[in-house]
Parts: sequence; structure tokens; C-alpha cells
Amino acid sequence: MAFRARVLSGSQCLSRSVRGYSAFASNTTVFKDVPPLRAYRNELLKQDRTVGLVPTMGALHEGHTSLVRMAAAENTDVFVSIYVNPTQFGVNEDFASYPQTLESDLKMLQTIDRELASTRGSGRISAIFAPNGKTMYPTLLPSSEIDGQGSFVTITPLATLLEGATRPVFFRGVATVCTKLFNICTPDRVYFGQKDVQQTIIIRRMVKDFHIGTEVRIGATKREEDGLALSSRNVYLGARRRAVGTVLSQTLMAAESAYLKGHTSRSEVLGAAEAIWMDTLKRQKKLQPSQRALFEVIYVSLADPDTLEEIDVVDETKGAVLSGAIKMLPIEDPQPREEKGQGDGKVPVRLIDNILLPPRA
Ligand code: AMP
Repeated sequence: MAFRARVLSGSQCLSRSVRGYSAFASNTTVFKDVPPLRAYRNELLKQDRTVGLVPTMGALHEGHTSLVRMAAAENTDVFVSIYVNPTQFGVNEDFASYPQTLESDLKMLQTIDRELASTRGSGRISAIFAPNGKTMYPTLLPSSEIDGQGSFVTITPLATLLEGATRPVFFRGVATVCTKLFNICTPDRVYFGQKDVQQTIIIRRMVKDFHIGTEVRIGATKREEDGLALSSRNVYLGARRRAVGTVLSQTLMAAESAYLKGHTSRSEVLGAAEAIWMDTLKRQKKLQPSQRALFEVIYVSLADPDTLEEIDVVDETKGAVLSGAIKMLPIEDPQPREEKGQGDGKVPVRLIDNILLPPRA
């Protein structure tokens, strides 16, 4: 009770900063500014409570909420940040069209928080941080140009590989915004999804190299039944591209199964992967433009689990990271009654996925 009273008095002075949003459940406050969130965090610290932070860009789905549940199982308080970070989008990328669904995100979190309330021993979602650009970048909104000015955190060479090879500012933006979020929330633990494997490795490296006092926890990739990894961008796929989009997980699973059968060479493991995506693409190309969904393979990688450097042979004491990215191209010859997804099938959709190949004795 003492805790509730203290925090409530804290959040009264916070209420000015949450204009536009109310504390949507008795337990949860939506913060837009840093000082009130810091004040709240300090209250929690004094109470020996622990904070698990789940950074997100909103448009929440089960992948995000699984991390929230994991954080609630391991901490007394869960902080969820919702911020579409402009600096991780390149100049020609989809920042402007990235889905923003704050109201429904808040509702989803509210529902989960109610469930957590009735789960014995579980933490609760006590803070949602939904800042604007000026709050996150108080001096200067840094440019998305590669040589743009601004205060950045860079983690190289990791950030230049795989996703970074075609998205050169992406991980600079991720590392920069996560540093800010970690400084603002000072979480005991931070929660990231395995779905973005390179991000997990970069965050671990960042926490280690900058001596950030938090523990990095990774939650499993959540998938649709047919294997497609959940992603906020899937809303753009529409029925035709959605059906073909499973090619990425199938490609990776074929490579995984080659490894599990005992193969370790790059040619054998990635050969199994290539057979799947090439066959799918060939079949799509044979279809009429009104029926097909074409894609480009950006990369399929077999890499060292620590450095993400490409490897020729899997070191069985370490295992490896199998990962891939494809671009689903805009649909051709859209049909009037076709379910085309958000953006009418015109938005190219980048899908990424990965599987960890486990070490074996
Ligand atoms: P995002 O909002 O896309 O920046 O993602 C926020 C967090 O959710 C990141 O740590 C992601 O790795 C994680 N995430 C996104 N999709 C999934 C998924 N399908 N399964 C598990 N975690 C995910």
C-alpha cells in the first residue's frame, strides 16, 4: 500500500506529461517525457523492485507480447517503450509508412496487464514510454544519411554485416536509440526477440563494450502456424505475397535439417537452402502476373554465432547462425477482389528470419 501511495503521488506530478493519454489501468502510466519516468524509476529502485524493459516500435503482435510476458515473469515491473525510431531507417526506406497503431497497442497491453494481475508471482506492466522525436533526440534529429551528423552509437564491424550490408544506417540507429532507452529506464533486464538475431548480438556487444548495467534476455521467435515469423510489416503482404512469404522459413528449415543430418560444410548447408528458394521462385515465375508473387533474395547466410562473419564449415562446438532476408516485390496486375494488404500490395516488404544451429558435442 505504501508503495502504491508513493507512486501515485509521483504520477500526479507526471500527469501533465501524459497529455493525450491517461493512466489506462490503475497499475500503468503512459509517459511521454524523461524526467517523470526517471522519477518513477527511482521510486521503484527505492522499493527494491526490478524493471524489465521491452523496447518496441509499436504495431504490437504476439512476438512483442511474448517478450512482455517473459519480462513480467522475471521482474516486478515491466516497461514497454513504443517509438518508431527514424534514425534506423535509411533515406529510401519505409519510415513514413511504418504502421503506427498506438491506441490499439495500448489496449493490447492493457489486456495483457489484466492477465498478469491474475497470474501469481507475475510482475505488471507499470510504465509505457511513448516519447516523441524531440524527447528522444533533444538537440538535433540526426540525419539518416550514412555520413550524417548527430550523436550516434556505432558497433562495428557487426553493424556492417548481413542486414547492415544493405541497410548501412540501420544498426547505428538501433544502437543509438537503445542506448538512450537504457539510459532513461535503467532497466535491470532488457528483452529482445530472437527474430532479429543480429540485433540481439549487437545489443549484447554494446552492453558489454559500454559496461551498461543491464542483463540482455532473448525470447524465442513467434511464428504463424505455417512458419512465417510474426512481424509488424506483415500487414503489407496481402494474401498472395503472404502465401509465398513462407519461402524464407522453409529455406532456413531446409538448411537446418541438412545440419541436423550431420552436414557442416557451407555448400551442403546453404545448398539445401538454395534448392528451396530457387524452386519456389521458378514456380512463381511460371504463373500469370495476376497470380504470382515474386521476391528477391537479399542474403542467405551461414555465420559464426559471435562475430556473424560468414563461415565455410560449422564449428560443431559453437554451432552457427543461419539467417536470411528476402524482399517481397509489389504485386503485379492486382485483381479487384484480391486481398492486397495495407498499401494495396504496392509496398515492397522485407522479411527476415533466422535459425540457430545448436552446438553438438
Ligand atoms: P520491433 O517493434 O520490430 O522493433 O520489435 C521489438 C522487439 O520485438 C524486438 O526485440 C524484436 O526482435 C521482437 N520481435 C519482433 N517480432 C518478433 C517475433 N516474431 N518473435 C519474437 N520477437 C519478435
